[in-house]
Formats: sequence, structure tokens, C-alpha cells
Amino acid sequence: MSAPLPRRTANLPRSAWVEVDLAALAQNFRLLRAELHAPTRLLYVVKDDAYGLGAVRASQVALANGADQLAVFTLGEAAELRDAGIRAPILLLGERLTDELRWVLELSLETCVGRIEIAQQLSVLGRQRGRPVPVHLKINTGMNRFGLPWRRVVDWSRELAALQGLEFVGALGHFAQSDELEKAFARTQQARFEECVATLRAAGVQPRLLHHCNSGGFLDLPEAHFDIVRVGLLAQGVFPSSVCRRLPGLRPVMTVKARVTAIQDLEPGDTVGYGMRWRAERPSRIGVLSLGYGDGFPRVRNEGSALVRGLRVPIVGGITMDALMIDLTDVPAAEVGDETVLMGRQGEVEITAHDIAALKRSVSYDALTGWRARLPRVYLGP
Ligand SMILES: *Cc1c(COP(=O)(O)O)cnc(C)c1O
Repeated sequence: MSAPLPRRTANLPRSAWVEVDLAALAQNFRLLRAELHAPTRLLYVVKDDAYGLGAVRASQVALANGADQLAVFTLGEAAELRDAGIRAPILLLGERLTDELRWVLELSLETCVGRIEIAQQLSVLGRQRGRPVPVHLKINTGMNRFGLPWRRVVDWSRELAALQGLEFVGALGHFAQSDELEKAFARTQQARFEECVATLRAAGVQPRLLHHCNSGGFLDLPEAHFDIVRVGLLAQGVFPSSVCRRLPGLRPVMTVKARVTAIQDLEPGDTVGYGMRWRAERPSRIGVLSLGYGDGFPRVRNEGSALVRGLRVPIVGGITMDALMIDLTDVPAAEVGDETVLMGRQGEVEITAHDIAALKRSVSYDALTGWRARLPRVYLGP
């Protein structure tokens, strides 16, 4: 009997994968850094596994190339970074419930605070341990998701000022619309934010670092950069919209690839896939890729394309859980083992995150984060 193969699950070969170009990520951070005034801090939002890149690797590269600090959404995401030895400041976005608070301290995090009850509870914890808890006051300036409502900041500012045990590291808001040409509401939000900060300061609460920009604001609202900009999507080399400002040189970081694992030769009239939803009108060569909706590919039918040998070929039939089929009839040289691209560039052709988003009837953010953990991440570059 042969000895069991030494293995790490993550390293088992698979014919479909996500390629992460860390050199592109590094370059993107150098470009983003160069766009900012020197004192402005660059915060990399690495929630949801850095939008699918893998949070630890992406964070390490970003911090080495101009990012000053990180933000995540969950305690688990923060713990993963701390466990990997990342010491940079980490801001928890969103809102906490009481049972999470001791972990904020335990993991040495900064947290957003958008409810006065949570400020009070953190204040108690800070006094108990004899060291203030670093918080960023989240102000709801019109997104109406998280944060102290801008209309109520006047009422709460005195109460906040009286709280011991808190360090007001920052104050932030979040744009509801920053990547469209229409900027009126963004400007309204900015004005509300500035007014709230003035109110807080008058009451004796002195947040050091102000921030309101995400990627869209980074590009199109330089007057709202304040002290920190928070960037997630742009780091991926993907622009939030078709109308926002472009940064020349920014490159997409993520490519989704799959090798052809089977080829079926079809006669006219033969069909492909569940429900027989595609029918060959000519003798056809159908390539099979072992990547399906179980890997995050949008569950479309007779829609979308793949890139093979520098050409774009159509997806035929419906996406199945584990596989999808492409029409290779016009690429006669294609063979089993050929590398195809489902998202990204191959030679002169490209399928963008926005193209995948269109298939999902969704946004580019969802197109990037939608690739499941089942697809191994393969890192290229530094
Ligand atoms: C996700 C998120 C960001 C990053 O947004 P991008 O558009 O990806 O740059 C910034 N701030 C908050 C509060 C977020 O939730």
C-alpha cells in the first residue's frame, strides 16, 4: 500500500481558478497614493476577502505600497488579518452589537460607532481597562444605513463629550451616490457632515480624522477627501461606473480562468445541457469548462462568453453547478487543456467585471465578490 499523498486541500489541482495579479495591485496602490495629497491617509477596505482577492495577501501588498490602514466589516475578517500578523490599524465598518465589543478591544481594532448606546458601552469598557477605546463616529448623512442621524448629532454631541474612556480617532459618513455625474446629493451629504463635525467640535468632541469618500468620491469629489479616503473597488483596478474619472495606468487585478476539460462533437439538431436549451445548427464543437454557478458564475443561459486562443466564443446552454459549455466551432485549433478566460483579458479581448455584472443584473462589486471560495486563488507577482 502506498503512503498517503501529503496534501493541503488548498493546493490540490483544479482546472478552474482565480488569478490575482499582486504586481497590478501594488502598482494600483502606488498610483492611488500618488493621486492623494501627502497627508491624506489611504485606507484599503478589505471586507469580503478584499472583494474576493484574499484579504491577507491583498492587505500585505497594499500596506507595502502606499495603503496606511485597513477596514473590514466583521470581527472574523479582522481576526484573520491579526492572526496573519498584520499590525496596521484596522477599522470595523458597520455597527456592532454588545456581544461584539469585547472583541474590538481584544483584537486591537478601531470601530465605527453609530448608536449612542454602543458609545456608552465602549466608554465603560475603556474606563475599566484604563485605556481609551479608539472609535470613529459614524454619521448618517443621508445613506440611511448606519450612523448617528445627522439631524440628531446636535442632541448627542454633549452626551458624547461627557463620555470618558473613548478616543475619538475619527468621524465619517458614506456617500449614497458618488460615481454618477449628478453630484448634488453628494454635496448635500458633505455639507451635512461638515455641519455635524462643527457641532461636535463646539460641544468638545474632537474627532481627529475626517472621512467620507469611497472609490467614487476618491475619483470625483476631491474636495471631500478630508483626512482619509476609503478605497475598495478602485484597488482592484475596476472603476465604479462608466462616467467617473479614469486613472490612467490602473490595471484589473483579478482574472478568472478555466481550462477546457472536455470537447463534444455535435451534429446539427443535437442539443446542449439541461432542458436542451441550445440546438446546433451546424456541425459543432462544444468545449466544457469545469466551472459553474457553484463557483459564482452567473446562472445564465445562452448568454455570456469566454476567451480562448485570443478569441471570444459564446456560452451555449445553461450554466450548471459545476460546468459550463462554450461553442468552439470557430476555433478549430482549440483542444482539451486550453486556458480560457471567463473574466479578465486574453490578448486583445477582454471580459470586464462590468460585463459579468451585466449577466448577473448586478454591479461590478458583486461580480468581483461573487467568485466563491471553491475557486482556488493563484497569486502572481510580489
Ligand atoms: C465598502 C465600503 C467602502 C469602499 O467602497 P468602494 O466603492 O469599494 O471604494 C467605503 N466605505 C464604506 C463604509 C464601505 O462600506
